[in-house]
Amino acid sequence: MLRATLLKLSESPRFAQWVTSNGTTRRMARRFVAGETLDEAIEAARACNNLGMLASLDYLGESCSTTADAQRARDAYLEVFERIHKENLHANVSCKLTQLGLDLNVDFCQGLVVSIVELAARYDNFLRVDMEGSAYTQRTIDVVKNVRARNPAIGTVIQAYLFRSETDVQALLAFGCRIRLCKGAYKELPEVAYPRKRDTDFNYIRLMKILLPSGFYHGIATHDPRMIAETIRWAAAQQISKDDFEFQMLYGVRTDLQRMLVKDGYRLRVYIPYGNDWFPYFMRRLAERPANLGFLLRNFLRS
Ligand SMILES: Cc1cc2nc3c(=O)[nH]c(=O)nc-3n(C[C@H](O)[C@H](O)[C@H](O)COP(=O)(O)OP(=O)(O)OC[C@H]3O[C@@H](n4cnc5c(N)ncnc54)[C@H](O)[C@@H]3O)c2cc1C
Repeated sequence: MLRATLLKLSESPRFAQWVTSNGTTRRMARRFVAGETLDEAIEAARACNNLGMLASLDYLGESCSTTADAQRARDAYLEVFERIHKENLHANVSCKLTQLGLDLNVDFCQGLVVSIVELAARYDNFLRVDMEGSAYTQRTIDVVKNVRARNPAIGTVIQAYLFRSETDVQALLAFGCRIRLCKGAYKELPEVAYPRKRDTDFNYIRLMKILLPSGFYHGIATHDPRMIAETIRWAAAQQISKDDFEFQMLYGVRTDLQRMLVKDGYRLRVYIPYGNDWFPYFMRRLAERPANLGFLLRNFLRS
């Protein structure tokens, strides 16, 4: 209920206006967002590297209304790869296809992705295509498949809350695609996604057990100690090496767990978002932890 309210509010322009102009909420957002500039994101990635963690940089933005906006987002991603290379960082890049024009024209969007992946490959790096709401799942997978047929420096994300995900995992593995497994962060209907958390968790473990022995390098993205413990237990039982997969967590979330995994010799990648367009990302993070809802709403109603 609280989660649904927050995800609904993430679509409200009035709420967006208030959140992004209010000093308190801007400060709250900084817990989850490294900053508004690439320089700040690079510093955050360097700090992660210094702690023995990998990073994935995400230039925040979702959907765009013109091809010029999409091209600007593409240019921003090219710049991120250039900076990662120049600064010698252990970092890759995550992006969203709606930011690269998926809603405008799929072929146009795919062309932009190709140019980003070509640069990623030139630097021996990797582009991870985030997964958005279920209206985009098939188109995202199609674009990733098409681009990957020309260049393997691209992978995508599977959300354990979707009923379709096991079929998608099998299809992506059939052509060697690297997958990030997460639970899923969007508001979905019960026709397409498990409404109950325990079913999503069950599916998460099932999918993890398909991914890990597949022979490809995947990301287990979660802060849930039970998902992490079961992954560690199962990988050890199957004699899957700690180097054959990585855990992934979000910037500012469960930093205690992040450090613990690194100390125990696991590979850990921190997803580092940055940029001006942080409102929807911030709302999804709040929705994952409704304890923050009361605080936010009290401030909103008082304003
Ligand atoms: C690296 C990474 C990339 C992701 N990419 C995508 C994507 O492409 N598409 C997509 O739909 N989703 C993505 N997600 C989000 C994901 O789907 C979940 O919404 C999110 O990770 C919360 O689920 P959880 O696995 O941590 O488990 P949960 O059961 O939600 O949480 C477990 C515990 O983690 C802690 N926790 C979780 N979230 C927060 C938070 N925001 N603030 C404070 N504590 C928290 C709490 O202690 C909580 O009890 C990504 C997540 C990660 C880590």
